[in-house]
Amino acid sequence: MHGYQRTLRKDVKCTGIGLHSGKQVTLTIKPAPVNHGIKFVRVDLPHKPVICAHFRNVIDTSLATTLGMDGVIVSTIEHLMATFAGLKIDNALIEMDAYEAPIMDGSAEPFTSMIKKAGIKTQPKKRYMIVVKEPIKMIEEDKEVGLYPSDTLKITYTIRFDHPLVKEQSYSISLVDGLFEKEISPARTFGFLDEVDYLKRNGFARGGSLENAVVIDKDRVLNPEGLRYSNEFVRHKILDCIGDLSLLAMPLIGHIVAVKSGHALNHALLKKFMQQKSCWETAEA
Ligand SMILES: [Zn+2]
Repeated sequence: MHGYQRTLRKDVKCTGIGLHSGKQVTLTIKPAPVNHGIKFVRVDLPHKPVICAHFRNVIDTSLATTLGMDGVIVSTIEHLMATFAGLKIDNALIEMDAYEAPIMDGSAEPFTSMIKKAGIKTQPKKRYMIVVKEPIKMIEEDKEVGLYPSDTLKITYTIRFDHPLVKEQSYSISLVDGLFEKEISPARTFGFLDEVDYLKRNGFARGGSLENAVVIDKDRVLNPEGLRYSNEFVRHKILDCIGDLSLLAMPLIGHIVAVKSGHALNHALLKKFMQQKSCWETAEA
């Protein structure tokens, strides 16, 4: 159990393109002091505005998670945020020179391995966590997501698509040490070919390609290398969900159960959960 806060040992840097913008961006992740949390800095803008990674700053969840403050945004941050949560990093400063984070290979693996390579440092201050006390659930048409008491962070996810390759996939994982890196971090973003075409025609997914997403046609995966896991799709949804939960800005101790949920419903649940004070308490790790 990592009871103490953690940060990186040194700066790490990568360059890539934004999935939706297609724009090149350089991302630098820097160590930060205790109780700093995860913050983004837009170094390409005057006065270098800072945005805290907090669910209160979520302004859009339609295609990716976008944070905004005073007209400044950072977008498609969910895989990076999942990496911090998965590696139990509490404090970091992320510099970006464009509004959208790089998509890299569509998974969290490039971020995970570069942070692991830099090393992780334990800091002399305990972390606080949010512990689920009472169940809470949200349902929207055929989608649902709920939080339940549990001893560790556990995620159970079910996806259902009317497609012969995906159909129904269900996966459950407790995020105990090392499992995020092995089982979740390498799972890539996916899309159906007709959907990808539609997005591109409408000016989204400009940076999208087989280099950074699994693309599914009628009965086959178009990527020549195939899948990284037979159930890579549901694993990626868990990755996105970990990123969404990380915007509580404190590690969560509870079991999240989701059926066909996405960023929008996950964020709606977080808001309702935090408003309902009987559902949770904070505790020192
Ligand atoms: Zn994703």
